[in-house]
Amino acid sequence: MNKRLDSLHRAKHFPRRHLTLAVAVVLSLAFASLWSPSQQLSAKRQNLSLTLKPSLELTKQTGETDDTPALPQPANTEHWEEITVRKGDSLSSIFSRNQLSASELYKFANSGKQAADLKYIKPGDQIELIRSSDNKLVKFKYHKSTLVTQLWQYQDKQFKFSELVRKPEIKITFRESTIKQSLYLSSQKAAISDNITMQLADIFAWEIDFIQDIRAGDQFSLTYEEKYLDGEKIGEGRILAARFVNRGEEHFAVLYTDNKGRSNYYNPEGKSLKKAFTRYPVDFTRISSRFTRARKHPILHKIRAHNGVDYAASYGTPIKATSDGKITFAGKKGGYGNTVVIQHRVKYTTLYAHMKHFSRGIRAGKKVKQGQIIGYVGSSGLATGPHLHYEFRVHNVHRDPLKVKLPHALPITASEKSNFKKQSSAVLAQLAKLQNASTFALNP
Ligand SMILES: [Zn+2]
Repeated sequence: MNKRLDSLHRAKHFPRRHLTLAVAVVLSLAFASLWSPSQQLSAKRQNLSLTLKPSLELTKQTGETDDTPALPQPANTEHWEEITVRKGDSLSSIFSRNQLSASELYKFANSGKQAADLKYIKPGDQIELIRSSDNKLVKFKYHKSTLVTQLWQYQDKQFKFSELVRKPEIKITFRESTIKQSLYLSSQKAAISDNITMQLADIFAWEIDFIQDIRAGDQFSLTYEEKYLDGEKIGEGRILAARFVNRGEEHFAVLYTDNKGRSNYYNPEGKSLKKAFTRYPVDFTRISSRFTRARKHPILHKIRAHNGVDYAASYGTPIKATSDGKITFAGKKGGYGNTVVIQHRVKYTTLYAHMKHFSRGIRAGKKVKQGQIIGYVGSSGLATGPHLHYEFRVHNVHRDPLKVKLPHALPITASEKSNFKKQSSAVLAQLAKLQNASTFALNP
């Protein structure tokens, strides 16, 4: 079982910070992998139809969603030899096993970056090739993944490279469940994969405390993408809409992609489900000192306010910016030692002190992203041991970083509002319809 899911399963012992820290990573990975392929596809495919005229078996392989017109099928006398990559294989061993000369290998391997990347072939990978009657390599095909096939053709005394990226068919799937013991178990029962369960937990991570607040009787339903190729399921995409009823309170999430191509989850009113700040700037072992208006300073032995929170962590633990912003200070600052101050939007500032050292490129005037590593835990300045001293200011007034109400990430902009309303009401209506249908089916 996945470690994070296992933690969801054992909800009570799961520190929330791990869950929230993983949100950005999981979502950004999902978007990176899901948005680019379809956008690149049309360009790549056009390119393909220009360069791959004789190679018809490739165009034949495209998925049902392919809009490239079918080319006429010529009499095909080419013989493709099929090769499965063995354990310990390299391009060189494959060539020699198949009686292709060292000079053929040299010509092919040095034909460009893509051929050079064939050093990453793995056992089980499929290769196909065509040779001429005088045993020269004419075509080389590598099935890089379910969706990507690479082709090299020897033409005009060089290998020409082209790539076919297939587009999976997307089907929308509906699932729902009522929690009896844990989110994980109820998801399993409803045939929801680990991947989708994690996405669901991440989407609502700021709204619902999956550690403390989940109760028997909580319900959820969701629609998400499933990817198919030639009628076979090859994976899952994103959650499109979700409803989660936690202790009688109903939460909704809708995926929306703005006109700049950025995708985020919002509630039906267009408010982002993400917070602008992560709660913790460091993966700490314990909180060694809390925010207080007055306390005795451990070194100065004077009564002093402690304007932040101290997170004990070992030397060198990465410190991450808690939100996007601009560095206003990076340097030595008296008892604070190596310190970074970041300005966020207009009214927020965060401060990170006692660093061992800064990470590369961190200096005043630089912009940073949420989660970016700005430095490493140390004990510079007045510090009894390695820890991060973290401050959070609103309008220049110190607030308790553990208690301050964190602002939401930016909502839908005014110019996108009407488009958002249209899209979100459509996906929410679909969710409601599927839900009613299934309720009806269960209780006729
Ligand atoms: Zn401190």
